[in-house]
Amino acid sequence: MYFDTHAHYDSPAFDRDRAELLSGLPQAGVELALIPGCELDSSQKALDCARRFPHIYAAVGFHPSDIEKLNDDALEQLRRLAEDPKVRAIGEIGLDYYWEDYAPREMQKAGLCRQFELARALDLPVIFHDREAHADSMEIVRAYPDVRGVFHCYSGGVEQARELIDRGWMISFTGALTFPNARRPVEVAAAISLEKIMIETDSPYMIPYPRTPEDKKFRRNSSLRVYQVAQKLAEIKGLSLEETARITTENGRRFFRIPQSS
Ligand SMILES: [Zn+2]
Repeated sequence: MYFDTHAHYDSPAFDRDRAELLSGLPQAGVELALIPGCELDSSQKALDCARRFPHIYAAVGFHPSDIEKLNDDALEQLRRLAEDPKVRAIGEIGLDYYWEDYAPREMQKAGLCRQFELARALDLPVIFHDREAHADSMEIVRAYPDVRGVFHCYSGGVEQARELIDRGWMISFTGALTFPNARRPVEVAAAISLEKIMIETDSPYMIPYPRTPEDKKFRRNSSLRVYQVAQKLAEIKGLSLEETARITTENGRRFFRIPQSS
């Protein structure tokens, strides 16, 4: 049974069948899924889904794409959402220097620090998005030694992964691990302990390989594909799919503090 630790079910890509898809996950082998927020509205939607389904959890936060909306009032509203027991992390937050129309780097860093402070105050882990911003991301991680988290859709190198793990952080892999040109993530997955790895789909993005003809048509990923990430990880680690699923699910439960009974 799998734990898809990062899927954006607030996305309009799921408007036509969200409830049906989410309610059917346990029967399809996905025992848990976590929906991160990217600003207030999507954080609220993530929480609404989590309240509705026992196997769904939420995270709330401002993604670098929306960081300019994080003013004092928004931060206070985020704090209120984060106090809900189904919210298990602050995320997804981070730094993204890939897109030129995102907020300036200094603004991204300032907004990120405010959210690290919120995570620390509420004793929640963070879900970190680092795209083309490895050095600045690590600088902020080092500045908050008492905040732990996960680097989602990991794109850094082995050295960075080792430092994160030494600092008590986790590494999470998406379908990018299965891409035909995946070299770095495969290298990292091979180098670090499976106990430090979580898996995710980042749905509706990052459809894993092998892809089907329907993927071209619908262009939508879902938690039903998380097994493909596990398959690739099992292959890299030389373990069975069952063992890989079991360990990564346990890792996710431990990290997000979700007891075995739920
Ligand atoms: Zn994401």
